[in-house]
Amino acid sequence: MSAPDPDPDPAPYAAPYTAPYPAPWLPAGCFAGQTAFVTGGGTGLGLAVATRLGELGASVACASRSVEHHEELIARGEARGFGVQSIAMDVRDAGSVKDAVRATVERFGGLDVIINNAAGNFVRPSLSLAPKGFAAVTDIALNGVFNVSRAAGRVLRKTGGAIVNISAPYAATGKPGVVHSAAAKAGVESMTRTLAAEWASLGIRVNAVSPGPFESRGAADRLWPSEELERAVLSQIPLGRFGSAEEVAELVGFLASPLAAWITGAVWTMDGGWSLPTPLVDADGDKVRRRRSVD
Ligand code: NAP
Repeated sequence: MSAPDPDPDPAPYAAPYTAPYPAPWLPAGCFAGQTAFVTGGGTGLGLAVATRLGELGASVACASRSVEHHEELIARGEARGFGVQSIAMDVRDAGSVKDAVRATVERFGGLDVIINNAAGNFVRPSLSLAPKGFAAVTDIALNGVFNVSRAAGRVLRKTGGAIVNISAPYAATGKPGVVHSAAAKAGVESMTRTLAAEWASLGIRVNAVSPGPFESRGAADRLWPSEELERAVLSQIPLGRFGSAEEVAELVGFLASPLAAWITGAVWTMDGGWSLPTPLVDADGDKVRRRRSVD
């Protein structure tokens, strides 16, 4: 009998380790009796998160500028048996945020989970980005997170709770073409750690999820509006596929849930390796290959 090969070839590429996990994994009922407030909860990632929290037992307040964007979530709540409150609110307006938080507490009797998801973004080289374009993005994506966190924190301080902010990997790496969003998200990550430390004694956990490019209509329209651009973004993702809003939502739900009771001030990246350095050689050592197919 021959001895086992001490240095076997690496296992062939195995899709089960990198394909989207088919079943959601958070335990049923882990948000039972809780109320979640999701900014931008009617579209994209916000819709996926709001849906998941509702399915797991939460009542959900969905707050954004256009209540027409909440129709799909309302329909899902009716079909799947969770309460949805649709609120017109602009995160840039602290008064409107305060009213929205108050309306949620009045409707559902409390507040437990905040998801700071609302943002705006577009691609523009910094030299042609007007100051008002920079201000428009940072006002939503950074100031908005403060407005919501502050208004919610003044309620959560009585009971404790969990806040999850949505960042992006370029907060840490930078990314040419999105200086406004990168600067805002870097601020959000700093705010995450600062508020986590400041509010830990109040029983409020504050964490962030930093997703790479995932499929959402908003991102597709603004960030990769043509097939050519979509292919270019895809080629930058080492694991060879876009994320899905649903798999990111599951991680957001985890950090908001009691399962993450000892996690605060964390920023968890989920990006298919998008923020990793570009390799000089690939695993075979002879050529650069940025992505592999999951097929
Ligand atoms: P999306 O579908 O475009 O959703 C953005 C949401 O924000 C909308 O529901 C919008 O609703 C709301 N919103 C925008 N401005 C607002 C304001 N002033 N006040 C209140 N709500 C406002 O975006 P997404 O692609 O799902 O992105 C969700 C989050 O993930 C964002 O924080 C984004 O930066 C982050 N992210 C996305 C990607 C990606 O590849 N998609 C990658 C990294 C990070 P209204 O229009 O009704 O206001």
